[in-house]
Amino acid sequence: MQRRLPRLRADKNACESQHVVILGAGASRAACPTGDANGRLLPVMADLVELVALEPLLRDAKISYSQGQNFEAVYERLAADPSKAAVQRAIETRLREYFAAMVIPDRATVYDRLLLSLRAKDYIASFNWDPLLAQAFKRNRHLAELPRLIFLHGNVDAGACTEHRQKGFLEHSCPHCGRALMPVPLLYPIGTKDYEGNAFIQNEWIELRAAIEDAYILTIFGYAAPRSDVAAKGIMLDAWKANQTLELAAIDIIDVKPEAEVEETWRPFFVRTHYGISSAPTWLFQHARRSCDHFAIATLQQRPCQDNPLPTTDDLAALHAWVAPLVSQEVALRDEGTPLPC
Ligand SMILES: [Zn+2]
Repeated sequence: MQRRLPRLRADKNACESQHVVILGAGASRAACPTGDANGRLLPVMADLVELVALEPLLRDAKISYSQGQNFEAVYERLAADPSKAAVQRAIETRLREYFAAMVIPDRATVYDRLLLSLRAKDYIASFNWDPLLAQAFKRNRHLAELPRLIFLHGNVDAGACTEHRQKGFLEHSCPHCGRALMPVPLLYPIGTKDYEGNAFIQNEWIELRAAIEDAYILTIFGYAAPRSDVAAKGIMLDAWKANQTLELAAIDIIDVKPEAEVEETWRPFFVRTHYGISSAPTWLFQHARRSCDHFAIATLQQRPCQDNPLPTTDDLAALHAWVAPLVSQEVALRDEGTPLPC
C-alpha cells in the first residue's frame, strides 16, 4: 500500500491532518456522571433496559430478558420477528422520550471540553442517542470553528431530509425544500448491522470511514466495542488499516476498564507501541486545538512544542475566553498564512 506523511506545514507550525474522536456510552456517562441537569441517568447498553423501563414492554412481547443483558442483543431477537413490529415501535418511542428529555448541566462537561479542544478540520463521531453532545455543540457554536459531528446510530437531536440528503439538528429545515428535518431512526437490526438500510445512517458511516482513513490521531472514548456490534469495529478497523499514514499515526483509547482488557479489545488497531490507554483524554487536553500540529512537530521534527493545556475550570465562559485567541490564530493561518505560535 502507498504510504504518505501527515499534512505537516513545517513553516507554519501546523498540521492539517485530522484528529478523529469516537464516543461510546462511557463518554456520555463521563460527561454527566451523576445524570443530566435534572438527575436523569445516562444508560449504557448493560443497564438501559432497567433505566428506560423497557422490561414491561419486553415481557408483553414474550422476549426473554435477564438483568444486565446487553440491550442490543435483546433488540436483535425482537427485530428478527416481524410479528413484533408494534413492540419495536413502542420501544423506540420510549427510548426517544427518555433521551430527548435530557438536558446538559450548566457547567462545562467533558463534551464541551472535547468540542473546544478540537478544530473545524477534526471529527467527533458518536454512537450515543442522547442529545448532550448536540446541546454542547449549540452552546459553543458561536466560536465558529468546531469539529464536524457524525451520529453513527442516529440521535434524538439529529434530523435529515432524505430526499435532498441534508442533515442537521431537528430544529433546522432543509435548505432545498424548506421542510423541517425529520427525526432519524434510532433502532435498526444490528446483528447484521444494517448500516446500509437507512440513507442517514449510511451517510454517517461513509463519512466516518473517510475520516478514519485520513486521521492522524484516533481517539476512542468510552466505547466498549460490544460483540453484538462486531460490524462497527470491523468497519473502523478496515478504514484504519487503509490509512496511508498509519505507520506514523497514533491511537488513544480512553476507558475506565482494566488496561489489559482494553488492550485485548483494541490490539488489532495498534501499530507497534504507537498507542495510549488512559481514563481521560490526555494529549488532546494537554495540546488543546493543536493536537495534530504538536504531535507532528514533536515526532517528525523532534522539536517539541510547549503544551497548551485546556484550563481545568468547568466555567464555560472562562473556557470560551481561553479558546478565543487560539481560534483567531487558526483563522489567521487559514486566511493569511500566518504561522501558528509554537
Ligand atoms: Zn429537502
